[in-house]
Amino acid sequence: CTQKYIGTVEDCCCDYETVDRLNGQVLYPSLQQLVKTPFFRYFKVKLWCDCPFWPDDGMCRLRDCSVCECPESEFPASFKKAIYHGLSSEDLVCQEGKPQAAVDRTLDRKAFREWTEIDNPWTHDDETDNAELTYVNLQLNPERYTGYTGSSARRIWDAVYSENCPKYPSEELCQEERILYKLISGLHSSISIHIAAEYLLDEAKNMWGQNLTLLYDRVMRYPDRVRNLYFTYLFVLRAVTKAAEYLEQADYDTGNPTEDLRTVSLVRQLLYNEDLQTACPLPFDEAKLWKGQRGPELKQKIQGQFLNISALMDCVGCEKCRLWGKLQILGLGTALKILFSDNGHQDLVQSLQLQRNEVIALVNLLNRLSESLKFVHEKGPTVEMMMGKQNASP
Ligand code: FAD
Repeated sequence: CTQKYIGTVEDCCCDYETVDRLNGQVLYPSLQQLVKTPFFRYFKVKLWCDCPFWPDDGMCRLRDCSVCECPESEFPASFKKAIYHGLSSEDLVCQEGKPQAAVDRTLDRKAFREWTEIDNPWTHDDETDNAELTYVNLQLNPERYTGYTGSSARRIWDAVYSENCPKYPSEELCQEERILYKLISGLHSSISIHIAAEYLLDEAKNMWGQNLTLLYDRVMRYPDRVRNLYFTYLFVLRAVTKAAEYLEQADYDTGNPTEDLRTVSLVRQLLYNEDLQTACPLPFDEAKLWKGQRGPELKQKIQGQFLNISALMDCVGCEKCRLWGKLQILGLGTALKILFSDNGHQDLVQSLQLQRNEVIALVNLLNRLSESLKFVHEKGPTVEMMMGKQNASP
């Protein structure tokens, strides 16, 4: 297993071994503490799925489905009967009816003070439209198995890949387009890993645990999916370290001075770690992109593709999956904004403006990727051995 992942992570500047060591010893412990602070644990989100792509999608027409934890028996009969464009009535079962897919909203408006409301050119969501927003305590809503599957889920992934980053043979893709594909694939791996790490093993007994077969089937047996996970992690880490000065000076006030001081100290601990600065000072080199004559045109094209991917998150037919899908795509969009919107300014602190929600999404995304890396690093050898034996048996 380890032999597959040696040397430098493709398109990045650090090797697998160093990334695993830094993640396990430095980043994972800091991030785990940081995401529990009042500033980072609340996310403002529009959970009503306002799907622009399939206006006939039964799932997204079920407004009640996305705003209440409604048992199936409470659905209007017309919803249950409906069959839309190849989606069976089974696909229209409200995921929110399942306890594992339901979102627990904890309001803490006190903790949520406004920052800038500048829009992100890479993402579709306008979280400044306050009318339909809710605050979700991310700590109460872990990303894990929800039961969301079938053609509704498949349609989203297919659209993300085929419509937005077509799988041409890699030689035909220029570096920038390959990077968009790898970011999405890395995120997809991370979502699958979280499903495997916290799976509902026995519904009747409500027993949760790890599903290592799923980890192998969806991620480990495809080395490129593991590599893309490492790539995405380094890309997001680069964005965080590039914005270090901005993030250090940001306002983490939630009205609780003791907690807020701790948040600032944890942010510094994450940003200015000596080991990280020495062993992996440039996790990804964004200066190599958008060169040449086609640079600006390509950047605009990829921005448009990412905007579409962001809009697709409104079509995810499971509330908890939509929450984490939106958060993580906003996190990626924020990383893209940090890395590619310098507009010729030398001083990023002067030119960069981030929404509070973007900072929360960025750090929580890095934490999710960090958890995935740790899980793969720790379970990988066992999983490969287990599957090797299984494949060898008559
Ligand atoms: P899928 O994961 O749906 O994959 C579909 C196809 O994509 C695969 O057949 C393969 O060809 C390709 N593929 C798979 N992984 C990769 C990769 N890493 N790189 C490139 N190609 C790949 N379910 C939950 O239980 N909990 C969640 O929190 C959750 N969040 C979700 C968030 C979003 C945005 C979406 C779209 C879905 C989410 N789901 C979640 C559903 C989950 O991702 C799967 O779709 C579902 O479990 C069915 O899995 P599958 O085996 O059909 O393969």
